[in-house]
Amino acid sequence: MDSGPHGKAAKLTIRPICVGRLLEMPQPAITYMSGWGRVHTGAMIMFVIEGGDSPVVVDTGTLDPEWTRKHHGYKLERAPEEEAERALRRAGIDPGDVGTVINTHLHWDHCSNNSMFGNATFYIQSREVTYAASPLPIHRAAFEKKRGIQPPWLAVWDRIETVDGDCEIAPGLSVVSLPGHTPGSQGVLVDTGSARYLLAGDCIDTYENWEGNDSTPHIPSGSHTDLFEYYRSFEKIERLGCEVIPSHDLAVVERGEFS
Ligand SMILES: [Zn+2]
Repeated sequence: MDSGPHGKAAKLTIRPICVGRLLEMPQPAITYMSGWGRVHTGAMIMFVIEGGDSPVVVDTGTLDPEWTRKHHGYKLERAPEEEAERALRRAGIDPGDVGTVINTHLHWDHCSNNSMFGNATFYIQSREVTYAASPLPIHRAAFEKKRGIQPPWLAVWDRIETVDGDCEIAPGLSVVSLPGHTPGSQGVLVDTGSARYLLAGDCIDTYENWEGNDSTPHIPSGSHTDLFEYYRSFEKIERLGCEVIPSHDLAVVERGEFS
């Protein structure tokens, strides 16, 4: 992060860049065992953090609606200007200027545009890379571990820096291990100078997950690899005491900026 003329750290800002919406998702796919009969619209989001030496991107979104339907069975609604590179450039970011990309985990909807960032180093938990290479059958589609295609994270293999646990990436910017949704899920803790935020990845898909209900203080995502780890991650987030930014909530896109 840049220091100002008087040695004062520059302020960081977080902007969500929407690259489409998944329509008609069954609600229990988002809030485990909750919301039967409801459907959900999930925002697909790349987050850009500015104010440091170069822009940082957290998660890189999805490919086109055809790919999404063919390989994942979901209907992706995407305006032409929401195509990932166009959306980024419209927000004033040149992908070539991005020096750091953090993938919260390696599910397809969080890393499909990794190859767009030709000069970036990618920070991913080592447990996640291991699991993505050999997931359980029920999780193979989510990691695009399928015959005939390559998972998108492999395209940047030579620039992946694996991380084990909690780690500072740059001043004001750290990754924190939050396993449960996947073995190597991580969040990104951002100290903007006036507030502390957690980009929670799919540990917290939506505000409804974080707010919980009568039977659980927080609701896990419908997809998970270990619910015991998941609840420990919830407790860790409580201890962090920062404002949580969910990964797939339309309200995050509507807010537009976190600073
Ligand atoms: Zn996920």
